[in-house]
Amino acid sequence: MESTSSRSPKPPKPPVEAAAPSAADQAKPARGAPEWWRQTFSQMTGLGMTEAERAQYELDREKRRTEAQCAKCEKNLDYLMNYSPIVRFMLENIEQANGKLDKTNVRCLPCGRLQSGGFDANYGILLCQNRLIDRSHMEDTLAHELVHAYDHLRFDVDWKDLRHHACSEIRASSLSGECRWTRETLGRGIWDFTRHHQDCVRRRATLSVRNHPKCKDDAHAAQVVNSVFDSCFADTRPFREIYR
Ligand SMILES: [Zn+2]
Repeated sequence: MESTSSRSPKPPKPPVEAAAPSAADQAKPARGAPEWWRQTFSQMTGLGMTEAERAQYELDREKRRTEAQCAKCEKNLDYLMNYSPIVRFMLENIEQANGKLDKTNVRCLPCGRLQSGGFDANYGILLCQNRLIDRSHMEDTLAHELVHAYDHLRFDVDWKDLRHHACSEIRASSLSGECRWTRETLGRGIWDFTRHHQDCVRRRATLSVRNHPKCKDDAHAAQVVNSVFDSCFADTRPFREIYR
């Protein structure tokens, strides 16, 4: 019930003339209306949605997420190609080796598997927009794939050969920065840098080799990595030393 107490002397406000609702607004129930509550609540909980509504809702949400991830990935890629010292250095060296990598063959895409990037001699570099946590993670990932691209151009790599693949993985993990001291040991106390770096490179290279179709099992992957580790780890081209 409206109060008409004399303690509220303000005259009542004139009613605001409502603008004609747009077609889109008309389709939506008014905020606070029972139907609005039903839709909002069922979208939050998934309860009370029909099969079709739920499928459409998931589809819309996935599409928005994918678009946002792609835009963020593209923006970070532009930044890294222009301002990241390691990315620029690798791109220059790739160009000197008669390769050309730009935004036509370095692509942001959603990935299904647990990977953050990939290199393919025919297609270029893939950056997994749904797996890259932030720009620094993307920088390491891109640098890793650029080492593969460089190796492909400079060393006549046979990617079907496990030892060749292992060698490039060792170099990519070591030179990209993904095994830098801060990335893996932050919060875990001081650890000997060299030891950590080598362990990290060996572990990551072994995991990559394990995914090669010709690799039989974990022991096989470790054995291949060990057989080429020293020479490939020592080869820091095009860097003069390990980039930190
Ligand atoms: Zn790799």
